[in-house]
Amino acid sequence: MKLDVLAIAAHPDDTELSCAGTLAALVKQGKRVGVLDLTRGEMGTRGTPETRLQEAADAAEILGLAVRHNLSLPDAGLTNTDEHRRAIVQAVRTYQPDLCFINSPDDRHPDHGNAARLTLDALFYSGLQKIETTDEHGKPQETWRPSHILHYMQDRTFTPNIVFDISDTIELKEKAILAFSSQFNVDNPGEEPETYISSNRFFENLRARSAHFGHMIGVKYGEPFLYHGGPIPATALDFLLNHKQVR
Ligand SMILES: [Zn+2]
Repeated sequence: MKLDVLAIAAHPDDTELSCAGTLAALVKQGKRVGVLDLTRGEMGTRGTPETRLQEAADAAEILGLAVRHNLSLPDAGLTNTDEHRRAIVQAVRTYQPDLCFINSPDDRHPDHGNAARLTLDALFYSGLQKIETTDEHGKPQETWRPSHILHYMQDRTFTPNIVFDISDTIELKEKAILAFSSQFNVDNPGEEPETYISSNRFFENLRARSAHFGHMIGVKYGEPFLYHGGPIPATALDFLLNHKQVR
């Protein structure tokens, strides 16, 4: 059950839009990667919670995720309360990830910033002995705190301190996004209302943004991240020495 990497998100599709290229690359490198969706996105304009759950499962298969888990907390109602923190703590102790990706620190959709703060607190409390939780079989859980936390970028931009090269996985990322066909019906908006994210323009912007951040590190496409806390620890600098920027 242990994962190397767990991406945590307010809504199903947050991870696809913001870090799916990186997740797919990590899966290709043999890492065990999972996604924890906090809500079912039931307040979204288009689609139903059931269709979004199915879409999330389809996207997980495309990306090669080992786990996709939904906590069914209330969409547009995430609060930094004991109940919501405890739900996350339980999942984190179950999957024991070494690295977590979490929502943007502050974003257009208030759920994103709220989820980031809630998740950060839960990840800390997950390491405390006196916060007691049980697993699905009622067995007491061991404490767990991930070693590294990265915010992914959503609507609002920030200055990233890590850009991951997704040149080889951008197609998988786009395929996973299109699995959410109720949200990103780019070719045929159909009967449902057009939303901020359903138009072709939004999708084109995603690729342009990947190209922009890729350019910053001298590759075709990239995904930007903000390392939480820091400094970034190192025992070797191969990850820098092996990366030759195009000048
Ligand atoms: Zn979202």
